[in-house]
Amino acid sequence: MNAAALALLIHSLAAASFSPYLPSVEAALECVDESAFTPVDLNKVNFRYIPKCRFQMPVRAQTTLDMMRAPDEPRPYRHGTHQGSDIYGLPYGEPVYPIAPGVVLRVDRAYVPMKTEYRQKLLERCRETQATPGGEGAPEDPDYGDILDALRGRQVWIYHGRNERGEAAVSIYAHLSAVGQIQPLQPVDADTVIGHVGHSGTSHENKAEHWTPETHLHFELYIGGRYWRPLRLGKKPSAERIEAARRQVLLTFAPVRANP
Ligand SMILES: [Zn+2]
Repeated sequence: MNAAALALLIHSLAAASFSPYLPSVEAALECVDESAFTPVDLNKVNFRYIPKCRFQMPVRAQTTLDMMRAPDEPRPYRHGTHQGSDIYGLPYGEPVYPIAPGVVLRVDRAYVPMKTEYRQKLLERCRETQATPGGEGAPEDPDYGDILDALRGRQVWIYHGRNERGEAAVSIYAHLSAVGQIQPLQPVDADTVIGHVGHSGTSHENKAEHWTPETHLHFELYIGGRYWRPLRLGKKPSAERIEAARRQVLLTFAPVRANP
């Protein structure tokens, strides 16, 4: 198999799905050359003390609590749970960096925006099933497939290595306006621009304006096929509990100073 075919395979496998679809990601990961990059020391990672791992914020703009949304917050518009962190208040096109060095698993270079009516149908299906098909614990939709994946818009996925239990760490960057000059299986470091902030996959996807109130970066971290959450928030978390979770996100991803 040549490099281009392998890259295509990786893309299609990785795009297939995640949590219910972990075998596909595992298959994609088997193609990764582990010697091509320096993995994060994932042996220090567990769900209780992830800050030791020194992940970095994926944007260099200063990130404050009021810009955040944390993993595990309820997402009523799609009857699901937030599986990652949001950073609002960013300029459209702001560069996005990986949270740690790794290898590119997925790049949505040929992304096609969703029609508004199609997105409405996806959300209708979420309402009917009272879940987001494709999200953790929710099977894919028989007609529309992985709806959570579609709602993430244009994405980049990066593999960061494994912990001592052999669990792979993968990060996902969503709603991008464009992807960086990267290819599947390419090693990236903390300074590689992997994409640009946008609002693809959101209700403002087809707006003519570049910046809209929906413009934000959504990023997720998976370890062993489960999304990382600093706190379990449950169905109806208090405002205090949500704020505590958002604070934990800020503590986990170290800020990186803007380039001079
Ligand atoms: Zn989000």
